[in-house]
Amino acid sequence: MTTSLHPYLEMRKKYNEVLSNIDFIIHNHDDLLQLNDEINNKVKKDIDDIQNSKTDFTDLKNKIKQLKDNISIKIYALCQHEFIDDCIDIDPDYSQNIRYCIICEYCE
Ligand SMILES: [Zn+2]
Repeated sequence: MTTSLHPYLEMRKKYNEVLSNIDFIIHNHDDLLQLNDEINNKVKKDIDDIQNSKTDFTDLKNKIKQLKDNISIKIYALCQHEFIDDCIDIDPDYSQNIRYCIICEYCE
């Protein structure tokens, strides 16, 4: 692996971790909204605040996704790809042939 590629791959990994955590937070907002639904005499302001917070995190998620996409484009351009053919099991009865780079994981 070229040394210049390494920090980009690490950044993409970190972006994936951040995105996974944001997904977790967004999912918890859905739970909060659902729980709030079960409360009698719901407070409209609370619902709005939860909904607005969820929207903020969704916007943040889209920004992080864009940063990750930019990194992925850089990785694709910098990588000296080494493609291999592999077979992945979709379910017990069906598998699919894929071709991907063992360095950057780009799938053809
Ligand atoms: Zn590659």
